Amino acid sequence: MHRERVSENVFWFQSEIYAQVTAGVVAGPQWAVMIDTLALPDETLSIREFIEHELNVPVRYVINTHYHADHTWGNCFFPGATVIAHASCRDLLEERGILSLEAAKRQNPALRQVKIVLPQMTFAEGELTLRVGKKNLILSLATGHSKDGIAVLVEEDRILFAGDSFMPLPYIVDGDIDEIMASIKRIGRMGLENIVQGHGDVILRGEIDAAVRENLNYLSAIKRAVKAASRRKNAIELLDNITIEECGKSRVYLGGLAQTLHQRNLHALLQQMQDSQ
Ligand SMILES: [Zn+2]
Repeated sequence: MHRERVSENVFWFQSEIYAQVTAGVVAGPQWAVMIDTLALPDETLSIREFIEHELNVPVRYVINTHYHADHTWGNCFFPGATVIAHASCRDLLEERGILSLEAAKRQNPALRQVKIVLPQMTFAEGELTLRVGKKNLILSLATGHSKDGIAVLVEEDRILFAGDSFMPLPYIVDGDIDEIMASIKRIGRMGLENIVQGHGDVILRGEIDAAVRENLNYLSAIKRAVKAASRRKNAIELLDNITIEECGKSRVYLGGLAQTLHQRNLHALLQQMQDSQ
């Protein structure tokens, strides 16, 4: 697992095991806030170790940016903490998370000790502000990757933990392409120092405009390409020929998953277009 200090009392962690998924910590003098957890128990536990033994504070709150397994399945390792999320995150963890954890446990013994912990504090519109030490964390909606997406702004530092509404390759299979485009545009207007993406590396101030533009271009490009394919009889086969590069993305790593995610985007979009006809 990689760890970096993003600014004073703000830390970032990135998995070396699964899809470069990230988590964050904002620490105050008495307690810390964890933003997402990592995919597998060992990595989440080593973050906890760092917070409790290097920063010398307990975790009082865990914020889930959305319900997907790679961000929420470590909630159970902070039994004293209150979990905060979108109200739909709670519903989706209850409806889908519990079953998918049961299935995953049969495949992966490393998940044996994992339990789903549902958020106790939720909101569904507007913003929620949490004060930690000298910093305000402002939680706001950032949907489109999933319908329960939220982002966390460290107001004083202009650092945004964007969850998966911002990724090196936008992923819309469980979401909505127009909603994620709106979220990305809003993030682009926030005047940020850093974007902590739900997967991949931290984006620095000078890189933000280009990253926003590239993600919006990619989403427009897959929309155009899938629309053109959808008019043909062999639409599904045609999707195989739409490369990630011709949609304006190259050198996306994501633990080797980029090509798979891109193909899933195309298939999901075709399905969504056909369903809405
Ligand atoms: Zn994710």
